[in-house]
Amino acid sequence: MSKKLKFQRITGMHDILPQDQKYFEKIYNTCKSIAEFYGFSKIDTPILEETELFIKGTGDTTDIVQKEMYNLKTKGGDSLTLRPEFTPGVIRAYIEHGMKNLIQPVKLYSYGPVFRYEKPQTGRYRQFYQFNLESIGEKNAVADAQIIQIFYSILSELKFKKLIVKINSIGENRCRSNYKKVFIKYCQSKQSILCSDCKRRLKENPLRILDCKEEKCQKIINDSQIPQIIDYLCEECHAHFKSVLEFLDEIEIPYFLDPYLVRGLDYYTKTTFEIFADNNKNALAGGGRYDNMIKLFGGDDRSAVGGAIGIERIILEMKNLDIKFSETKDSQIFLIQLGELAKKKSLKLLESFRKNKVSVLESFSQDSLKAQLSMANKAGVKYVLILGQKEVLDKTIIIKNMESGQQEIVDIEKVIEKIKKHIK
Ligand code: AMP
Repeated sequence: MSKKLKFQRITGMHDILPQDQKYFEKIYNTCKSIAEFYGFSKIDTPILEETELFIKGTGDTTDIVQKEMYNLKTKGGDSLTLRPEFTPGVIRAYIEHGMKNLIQPVKLYSYGPVFRYEKPQTGRYRQFYQFNLESIGEKNAVADAQIIQIFYSILSELKFKKLIVKINSIGENRCRSNYKKVFIKYCQSKQSILCSDCKRRLKENPLRILDCKEEKCQKIINDSQIPQIIDYLCEECHAHFKSVLEFLDEIEIPYFLDPYLVRGLDYYTKTTFEIFADNNKNALAGGGRYDNMIKLFGGDDRSAVGGAIGIERIILEMKNLDIKFSETKDSQIFLIQLGELAKKKSLKLLESFRKNKVSVLESFSQDSLKAQLSMANKAGVKYVLILGQKEVLDKTIIIKNMESGQQEIVDIEKVIEKIKKHIK
């Protein structure tokens, strides 16, 4: 029997050895270049935050807050916590640095370790790395679709072939309260079967039961009689969800409606999503919309949507693959969209540009030609692409040379080829 070492790494935490560094670098570079392409800027927040931030933000009835946080008391008596996720810290920084005064949405990405006292197993650690995205200050469903699109693109770029996007809407408090009543009634009728955690959840935070992985609870969750939240969405939440799905259809991201996807965090409103590689039971990425946190932290009434991708989980899956990827270059092009139909088409067009390694800037949150032209001017791009209702119907797009002022109308199918020649 080998002798026990005097010092060993802490259970659930791991050393990233030199031979594994290349995976971390490759994944980070892919995430960074795709996020930056879509207008996200990097923010680093401290690993330690006030414990109260997570109790309020992540939610005091979540497993993370109740069981999984690494808390410590400083010599000065402050209660601090090693971040179990990025979102509350990023939102704190958004408010603290007055980012509401910037052009919205403020799109931020972060990368680094997070800490959760979970039961260690394959793909589940107590310290693990996440790449995190937050799009703050945008109500439109285009922001939800864009977050999903970015994670999907990251995984596609990393050569994952069969990706499954699971998506749901859990509505707002107003829709959830009606659903909760019916759901609680249903669960009470099955109470004797529920696991002990779910018996507690039934009193404290019943929807979390839908997240339970215990076999006996799974049986209840998968029963066809169980009420589904989607049937209880108010008109606004229903329209928002429909719009997210339409955007996903437009950008040809296949998804699977999962009415039980409530996720382990308290703050979600409307959209929730997770992305899986088909042979993996653990999600590679997950996130959703959270329209109440900024207000809850004392900021304005601003919407936000975000998500995170787990680096170690991706590496586990990547190890069997030989991976190579390329970089994007500085942008000389700005895409202007005018009208809802053009916005939808633009999302897909932008992704085609990315796939062709042509960098393009956009501002989907702006609707007017004037505002978008002024942003294009500020960015100093050489070409502007203009897609309006007429162009969408004619399957064309306008290329405007910002230096000469000359415009040409081209077939939308040929725009990438044309613009590549221009910027050569
Ligand atoms: P979450 O912050 O819970 O939404 O998780 C986002 C992503 O982080 C997941 O899809 C996983 O890829 C990763 N992740 C979550 N928990 C763990 C864990 N305990 N160990 C490793 N990766 C994790």
